[in-house]
Amino acid sequence: MAKYRVTYSCGHEREVQLFGPLKERDRKLTWLASQVCPDCASPARPKPQARLVKDGDHYRIQVTDAFPIKDYLKGIGYRWDPDRKAWWRPVNPADPADLVPAWGQLRDHVDPDPDLSRLERAWESEQVRRYRTDD
Ligand SMILES: [Zn+2]
Repeated sequence: MAKYRVTYSCGHEREVQLFGPLKERDRKLTWLASQVCPDCASPARPKPQARLVKDGDHYRIQVTDAFPIKDYLKGIGYRWDPDRKAWWRPVNPADPADLVPAWGQLRDHVDPDPDLSRLERAWESEQVRRYRTDD
């Protein structure tokens, strides 16, 4: 038995105890280093949080605690802000053609803030109103 320090892919370090032949331990260490640490893998970890944030004259959707979905966010055009420790993209909350699809990409992955939820309800009632008017 021996103790090792592992740096996981999330950047956290932990001491682990490994048993068995040296070759197996090496394999296990390499595998562990490719995983996120138990804390980051835990379902108790906070869900990523989406916020609508005013940024000067503009707005952005900002996602914090986003490590588990960072690759997804990067893939849909979000950028990393090291100062705010958040992923973000610019958005125009007054333009449903901009905001609705942006929110659609996020909604299943995050806890929304009250502003985004309120906007979403407003769009829904607007759609219902338009539908009835078109009828
Ligand atoms: Zn971690």
